[in-house]
Parts: sequence; C-alpha cells; structure tokens
Amino acid sequence: MSISQNLNNIKSSLPEHVTLVAVSKTKPNADILEAYEAGQRVFGENYVQELVEKHDQLPKDIEWHFIGHLQSRKAKLIAPFVSLIHGVDSLKLLLEINKQAQKNNRVIDCLLQVHIADEETKFGLDESELEEILHFVQNDKNEIKNVRIVGLMGMATFTEDQNQIKKEFESLKSLFDKFKTQNPDFKTLSLGMSGDYELAISCGSTMVRIGSSIFGNRNYN
Ligand SMILES: *Cc1c(COP(=O)(O)O)cnc(C)c1O
Repeated sequence: MSISQNLNNIKSSLPEHVTLVAVSKTKPNADILEAYEAGQRVFGENYVQELVEKHDQLPKDIEWHFIGHLQSRKAKLIAPFVSLIHGVDSLKLLLEINKQAQKNNRVIDCLLQVHIADEETKFGLDESELEEILHFVQNDKNEIKNVRIVGLMGMATFTEDQNQIKKEFESLKSLFDKFKTQNPDFKTLSLGMSGDYELAISCGSTMVRIGSSIFGNRNYN
C-alpha cells in the first residue's frame, strides 16, 4: 500500500473530532510530500535538528508538531514556527518555551506530558507535578503570556496487554477531565499511536500520533 492509501484509510476511520498527526520522523521529504499531496497538513517530528531542516525545505502551510523530548536549550530553534509542543514535562521547559515564544512574538500551544506507563523510561509528570505547573501558570498569567497549555499528552506502556493500555489511557482521560474544569484552554488529549490509536479514541483521545501505519516501518540506520 502507498502512503496516500494508508493515510486515506486511517483518515476515513477517524471520528471528525480527532486530529491526525502524521509522524514523519526519520522519513525523507518525498514521503512527507506524498502525504501532503494527499491532503495531510499536520506532521509530527521528535528530533529538533530534523524538524528544523524539514520546516526549511517543505511547504510553509505545514503545521509542525514537536512530539519528542525537548531539551530547554533547543526550544529556541523551533520557537519561530512550531505549532504544538506535545511533550512538556517540566516548569523549567515551559518557562523557556515562553521566553522564546515572546522573542518571536508568538503564543505557542503546549501539551503537558503525563507519565502513565508502567516503565521508568518514559518521560512525564505525575499528578501532583501536573497540578503544581497548572497552578503556577494560573497564578502567573501576566508573566506567562506566550504559552498556552491546551491539554495533555501520554504514552502507554509498550505491551501487548490491551487491558493495561486501556487502564493507562483511562487514567489520563480522567486527569484530563479533572483539570479541564479549571482550565478553559484544555481541548486536546494527545493519545494513541499506530498500534493503539483505536483504543485511545475509545478512551477519549482527540489527537492521534501515527507514524509507521502511514509511512511504513522506520529504519534508524
Ligand atoms: C514515533 C512516535 C509516534 C509514532 O509511532 P508509530 O508507532 O510509528 O505510530 C507517536 N508518538 C511519539 C511520541 C513518537 O515518538
């Protein structure tokens, strides 16, 4: 199957309120252009240098999402153009994004990444850290004007156990609902990848990040 066929199949299976982020990390520009020609405009990358190069080289109406782990010192490289940063997992990073957004006269939308997996290796905040950041931002609205926290992002444990994945998705959805009542900007729950996006949508995801099911398996060499 071609990229455009994969893309169309997935798009036609998504409910209207769910945004598809086509995850193009490691993939060449030609692949991205094929998806672009088929109508896709939202792409996700998780390496800063690769994202900057692709942004330079590809059509300017692409909405680029950063979905990886962002180091504070690299925020300035993507601040001029990035449209959503999915993986914000510290106040320090959020404040740096705010500073760089301000320099660019922009407001950058961000998602806070929550740790839901049963693994040490996945990044993310726990509930009390999440609460702390949201509280800090609300009390400092005048200082923190150039980032807008529009929701949450999470990644499930890498496992075949659907029940476990479902439990983790549901835990994030309930945090999302809880904090949404105090955060009017909350609208996005970024949850679900190639292997689990249907389950994620049934658990309340509004944004799925799909790579290999569109572009094929990645080759990291
Ligand atoms: C690579 C990646 C994806 C896409 O993974 P696939 O399994 O290829 O769909 C989604 N989210 C994040 C954070 C990623 O790094």
